[in-house]
Amino acid sequence: MERSTDKAVIHVLNNHKGGKQVQTVWDRYEAQQPQCGFGELGVCCRHCMQGPCRIDPFGEGPDRGICGATADTIVARGLARAIAGGTASHSGHALHIAHVFKKTLLGETPDYAIKDEAKLKTVAVRCGIEIEDRSVKDIALELVNKALSEFGDKGEPLTWAATTVTTGRIETCNELGIVPTSIDSTIAEVMHRTTYGVDADPINILLGALKCAVADYAACHMATDLSDILFGTPQPVVSKANLGVLREEAVNIALHGHNPLLSDIIAQVASEPELITEAKKAGAAEGLNVVGICCTGNEVLMRHGIPLATSSVSQEVAIMTGVLDAMVVDYQCIMPAVATVAECFHTKVITTMPIAKMAGAEHMAFDDENAMECARAIVRQGIERFKFRNPNKVCIPQESSKAIAGFSAEAIIGALAKVNAEDPLKPLIDNIVSGNIRGICLFAGCNTVKVPQDQNYVEMVKKLLAENILILATGCASSTYARHGFMTSEATKKYAGKGLAAVLTAIGEAAGLEAPLPPVLHMGSCVDNPRAVDVATAVANKLGVDTSQLPVVASAPEAVTEKAVAIGTWAVVGGFPTHLGVVPPVLGSKLVTETLTATLKDLVGGYFIVEPDPVKAAEALLAVIDQRRAGLGLS
Ligand code: SF4
Ligand code: SF4
Repeated sequence: MERSTDKAVIHVLNNHKGGKQVQTVWDRYEAQQPQCGFGELGVCCRHCMQGPCRIDPFGEGPDRGICGATADTIVARGLARAIAGGTASHSGHALHIAHVFKKTLLGETPDYAIKDEAKLKTVAVRCGIEIEDRSVKDIALELVNKALSEFGDKGEPLTWAATTVTTGRIETCNELGIVPTSIDSTIAEVMHRTTYGVDADPINILLGALKCAVADYAACHMATDLSDILFGTPQPVVSKANLGVLREEAVNIALHGHNPLLSDIIAQVASEPELITEAKKAGAAEGLNVVGICCTGNEVLMRHGIPLATSSVSQEVAIMTGVLDAMVVDYQCIMPAVATVAECFHTKVITTMPIAKMAGAEHMAFDDENAMECARAIVRQGIERFKFRNPNKVCIPQESSKAIAGFSAEAIIGALAKVNAEDPLKPLIDNIVSGNIRGICLFAGCNTVKVPQDQNYVEMVKKLLAENILILATGCASSTYARHGFMTSEATKKYAGKGLAAVLTAIGEAAGLEAPLPPVLHMGSCVDNPRAVDVATAVANKLGVDTSQLPVVASAPEAVTEKAVAIGTWAVVGGFPTHLGVVPPVLGSKLVTETLTATLKDLVGGYFIVEPDPVKAAEALLAVIDQRRAGLGLS
């Protein structure tokens, strides 16, 4: 199997100078073959020390675990725990930002400030906070206290869920009893009910999992809101993406992980003349070159135009170019293998968070009360390592693509307002009604080693764009489309169907770009998926329908993480049919599989479509979009 469809990645894999001892994720994947069939079906359990237990999927061996748990129970428990893991990750991210946000207001973190007062006020009003005749600090303090209260058990629905969806969604969640009243206790409840000898009813477990996914949505939305207020709401920005953004004559520092708290500060200090002079003195004629990987990369791309080097599955390949002087990581999606690969080069891997250390990396604890100094010290480590670079190991591919990023919901509404200032949603709705925009698809999620990198994304998007589907992207999906040149005006001319191209051209010209908007709109990192829900909710409210009726779908064609499972599940609860291109470990239970792919449709409107073939997947999504259009009386 081809390892990647990204020419830059293939070039480095074939030509790197790190020697035979360099092992990548693809080598380790091969070494794992064949992977355990029980695990792939989700029918193994080790939730207690009587196990591990395995159910025979062919009906010839055990049909129950030692405690009596059936395949249905075991599969449901495994899925619920994956969603809890994803939710814990997103909520940890959100809580971290909320803590720094509060410390900023109390004057304890002088390098941070409220950057977007307009967004603060919008979010405050949405959360029911009085803003008239109050100082920014007062409003922000009440908002962040409200945010922090979401983690404890406040006994009422989570504000960041209840105030950001349609009333129809709230009613649906109420009817199913899946309204979380605390982020932390909902995660804990899943762990409780799935431990030895608690919940054995697979449907009841799945309902608990759906509730947890709603808590994940709230945490993601909160993280996005607080980040925008603290660092600014993204607006369109032009940058570049792919490994060709690394430069031989510069100190290259990659920011990798998820959270903007450190990376945003590094992006700021990297333009300080003193540090640039230090880099030049070290021999880097072009000074400093900060690049991004994964969702930290998306955060600094959207707010600072920092180029994106690569995405999750190819993170090691950035080191294999031989010119990465430091890889600075925060948390999530960082393969422990980066430290091992770095041993074959001069790259220093720097961990920064107390919960995310790894053998072989240097730990430089990030101190938010001294953020700028911490960031400068980290950059200086990169400058120091430049001196150890081996020119014989340099292997920089040429490929990089222009990429227009930064399409927050506010930026999209802002662009539409150039067409109709009084009613910005009208041009979008009119074009959906006319069929110029046949539907909308949000691509989210990761890159997996199980398919050639980016293949599913690229094949699906070409087909959907030709059929006039507007594409939104987040996380490593947005990195993929940036690297493959789908975030340019030229891509609209090349790939978009006639109707879609006309709309994107009209909006681009009205916005003064003298060119079409890109056909794939970069909406941010993986926690930013609620930005797409905000747009869908606004459209649904304006039309007087529910989000479960809109011709809007989602796809995670190369999903990997527990976080992706949590996001996919709340997308389904939000009423969006959601495609997965990688089969999740649920096939060992017919009941769970049918619930996820069919029964949920009746309960919440959304459901999972599992289809590894990208062409068939695109056709399935088009069919769903057409059904939804017919349901709304649109041709
Ligand atoms: S909880 Fe039950 S099925 Fe799981 S390992 Fe223990 S005995 Fe086996
Ligand atoms: S999209 Fe997936 S792999 Fe990429 S950063 Fe997000 S969770 Fe990690």
